[in-house]
Amino acid sequence: MDQYLIPPNSQVDLGEIESYYTGEVSKKKGRSQLKKCRKELMDLQELLYAENKRQILIVLQGIDTSGKDGTIRNVFGDVNPQGTHVISFKVPTRHELARDYLWRVHQHTPAKGDIVIFNRSHYEDVLVVRVQNLVPESIWEKRYQHINEFERLLVDEGAVILKFFLHISKQRQAERLLARLDRPNKRWKFNPADLDERKHWVNYQLAFEEMLSKTSTPWAPWYVVPSDRKWYRNMVVGSVIVDKLKSLGMQFPEAVPEIESFRSTLEGMIEDAQA
Ligand code: AMP
Ligand code: MG
Repeated sequence: MDQYLIPPNSQVDLGEIESYYTGEVSKKKGRSQLKKCRKELMDLQELLYAENKRQILIVLQGIDTSGKDGTIRNVFGDVNPQGTHVISFKVPTRHELARDYLWRVHQHTPAKGDIVIFNRSHYEDVLVVRVQNLVPESIWEKRYQHINEFERLLVDEGAVILKFFLHISKQRQAERLLARLDRPNKRWKFNPADLDERKHWVNYQLAFEEMLSKTSTPWAPWYVVPSDRKWYRNMVVGSVIVDKLKSLGMQFPEAVPEIESFRSTLEGMIEDAQA
């Protein structure tokens, strides 16, 4: 899965990365791999929670319809909701806008033992904010460094950060927007404002490229995930997370000393309760 990792200080050109790529993997194989990942993730999350030593932060970014919601549902569908949290960042409130842009984000960073998934994130502050000119360049250009240092702080304090950029083609976006009209249970998701955003496609790609180039760090790397095929996207995100969690060498905490000495007492309690 390292083929999708953006090395630090690279110049990312999204035009060179195929969004429909599925390598040598068949859909059937990809789906069974995801199933395996979901099961492994369930066990790894339990271990993470029990160990209670590190915080996992997953960041999902991508243009409208790139599949952020679907990735969360498909990859994390089996994990215990206790210890796993999804935070979806929307247009900031007045209360949030009155403060620095990391303020609202920092409150939601994971506690030890927890997995937090950011559905959009502080990166919106160098994406939509830049493309829509919500603050001047002199302000947003400094944010790449703030963000790198903010993430460094989290990692120095025990966090593990994985960031996924869901890469789709312009054609695929049009197809998915249309699919929202065709499917009764997806109609609610159709927002005409997404069509206005689409007009800025090129500027978004530039903003994504600069984000990926400047903020893929050794401590908080970006993965660019080919996301035209949903099953492949899910498989890649799931596999990267599972591989990373496995590499941490997590251990269940030691049981209390001489745990076996409590057995006869407990058995006696059951007998008493039955009597
Ligand atoms: P959705 O993800 O479809 O629910 O939409 C959330 C909306 O909030 C998107 O249009 C984002 O661009 C917008 N949004 C999220 N964070 C920010 C931000 N920091 N500044 C402006 N808009 C934001
Ligand atoms: Mg949307």
